[in-house]
Amino acid sequence: MGTMEQYIEDAEKALLHTYNRYQVVLDKGDGVYLYDIEGKKYLDFCAGIAVFALGYNNKRYNDALKDQIDKVIHTSNYYYNMPAIEAAKKIKKVSGMDRVFFTNSGAEAVEGAIKAARKYAYLKDGRTDHEIIAMEHSFHGRTFGALAVTGNPKYREAFEPMIGNIRFAKMNDFESVLEQVNEKTCAILFETVQGEGGIYPAEEEFMKSIKKLCEEKDILLVLDEIQCGMGRTGYMYAWQKYGIRPDIMTTAKALGCGIPVGAFLLTEQVGANSLTSGDHGTTYGGNPLAGAAINIVLDLFEENHIIDNVKETGAYLEKKLDALVSEYDCIETRRGVGLMQGLVFNRPVGDIITKALDRGLILINAGTDIIRFVPPLIITKEHVDEMTAILKTCLDAE
Ligand SMILES: *Cc1c(COP(=O)(O)O)cnc(C)c1O
Repeated sequence: MGTMEQYIEDAEKALLHTYNRYQVVLDKGDGVYLYDIEGKKYLDFCAGIAVFALGYNNKRYNDALKDQIDKVIHTSNYYYNMPAIEAAKKIKKVSGMDRVFFTNSGAEAVEGAIKAARKYAYLKDGRTDHEIIAMEHSFHGRTFGALAVTGNPKYREAFEPMIGNIRFAKMNDFESVLEQVNEKTCAILFETVQGEGGIYPAEEEFMKSIKKLCEEKDILLVLDEIQCGMGRTGYMYAWQKYGIRPDIMTTAKALGCGIPVGAFLLTEQVGANSLTSGDHGTTYGGNPLAGAAINIVLDLFEENHIIDNVKETGAYLEKKLDALVSEYDCIETRRGVGLMQGLVFNRPVGDIITKALDRGLILINAGTDIIRFVPPLIITKEHVDEMTAILKTCLDAE
């Protein structure tokens, strides 16, 4: 076996330079810990970017996937398969939505949601100039449709022209949304809790005002739950806290807990009046392996009372982070819900994250000045204590 340095050198010669990776080659995981190829142990508060909700090396999850691999991995969407049917029924139940389309990623779920919204509007008035309102500081993925609704010009500029007819408003500023609404508006799309953009939860009044506006004008409310969904905020989907229901929603990341799957979900009304045969498709989407992953993930969520743990441990994490805000002048505030939290610093956090990694703690940022906490949803108070102890040694060493 080569050294870590050799592997990193090989990687830099072969892979396209689209990521600034941390200088570590990860090898395996167990529970909430990851190990690099030299055997060093890391407490993981990133979870593969809000993906590995159930932790690593969960035997039930691994066995379910192995069983499915031994049966069949892929068959195509020309035929029905049992795991996908089961997965669709389960995801309907936990989300309260009516129709499901399985994708391979989050961005692809956003693409589908945009197509469904445009088709719904097209069937109503036959126009082809509909507009979508998205939010500043949003993140919806890197494909063209998803990028076009991502409210960060830095991600978009070099790739212009985007798909057209997108307008941007400000999250939690209802007036700014109203200013963008006109007779062409077909959808208002945002993350229930903005993730990459800096952990901004939608305020209750904002959410309710938008829902009311959408109902009055038959505009579709499209919520991106790719990061904040799947139990992370203490609700299966973050919008469930507000007593509303979106017309379309997207989910991915923790949905497959590591198997690349996503989905967009629709109400019956939108499902029956938008995409139909020939309008949309994917080769892999909802294949038996993906279906098996979703099934075991949703089963384990229920059996292990994941949502209850998020509520309890999330409250504890909040308390601990708030204590850090009081203790350290370089930390301005905390924002977030459940196990999706951000600590806002008065300066870039890159060096703190690198220091933490050296000390065996995996953290990530959201923007330059925010440390983001999106750990596996099985973490305990002891893990939170372990994390804060390491983080404090990094801050004290500044
Ligand atoms: C990660 C993310 C996406 C994109 O998902 P991919 O699987 O990377 O394509 C879209 N929206 C939100 C809110 C995300 O956090």
